[in-house]
Amino acid sequence: MNRRKFLKRAVIGTAVLASSYVYLDNEEMQQALVLPGKIFCDLHSHPSRNYPIEDLMETLGSPGLTGLALKCWTENERDILTYEQALDLLPLSQVTEIDKGKVARCGQGYIARTQEVLAGRHHLLALGWEGGYFPSYQTIKEAVDDIHARGGIAILNHPFAITGKRMLRLPKTQGELDLIREACTLVDEMETHNAFCVNILPYALDFREMNKNAEDLRQREFPHFRGVASSDCHHYLDQVKLAGIYIDKDAIETKGMKGITEAIRGGNFIRFGDAQRGPYVSRYNLLKVALRGILG
Ligand SMILES: [Zn+2]
Repeated sequence: MNRRKFLKRAVIGTAVLASSYVYLDNEEMQQALVLPGKIFCDLHSHPSRNYPIEDLMETLGSPGLTGLALKCWTENERDILTYEQALDLLPLSQVTEIDKGKVARCGQGYIARTQEVLAGRHHLLALGWEGGYFPSYQTIKEAVDDIHARGGIAILNHPFAITGKRMLRLPKTQGELDLIREACTLVDEMETHNAFCVNILPYALDFREMNKNAEDLRQREFPHFRGVASSDCHHYLDQVKLAGIYIDKDAIETKGMKGITEAIRGGNFIRFGDAQRGPYVSRYNLLKVALRGILG
């Protein structure tokens, strides 16, 4: 290759790399702002425990509350940090439980015990229940009944991402749309913004539609819900506390998990997360997660 050819290739190569970087690194991914008198709660989050303690502490100990949501059904996500493990791993001097077995203060932030439950073709977020973790269920009705029987509440996660043959996907038939509608009649709230429903390929593969459809359905048929938001962090710490809801600090400080579930039931929260405006994880983050095989 002569010098001229080499330079040409180098320039093209750099341009391709630079543009793919801009394409993939398309979101700012900053933790949500602190509002006075409120706690920012990212209740549906699955950070990995395989980080140095200082890194875990830096993320979980920053202002805001992280719901450490265990998932039982997926082999690829065995490294999800649970609330119980966090209490064991993090320095004693930094972590104090304010609601035993459910919520702890952690540095300047908080952690809470939550679980994502597989229920038929849907995923539920369980909050505030008594006793051990839930198994997977064949139907959403059985799951919600069990969560309620144990004093918890159930939120329908990403309503328009239902289990398909290989991965989560949008509904394709009227029957599947009816399934989503029925699920909404059983739960205590619905997630209308999930930071993982990203615009992968503009005009071709845009999962923001899942959030938009959920918000449209809420407004049209379930206006008694306010719609919650979450990061749905998969593994990587920089995804934690991107999206969520603001709840009164007093309610959480005085009542712990009950303060959270009452606020959600009563619609006393402010959602931070919107289909159009985001926030979303970057395409680069989605790619990293997909390469680890832990999507869905
Ligand atoms: Zn999740």
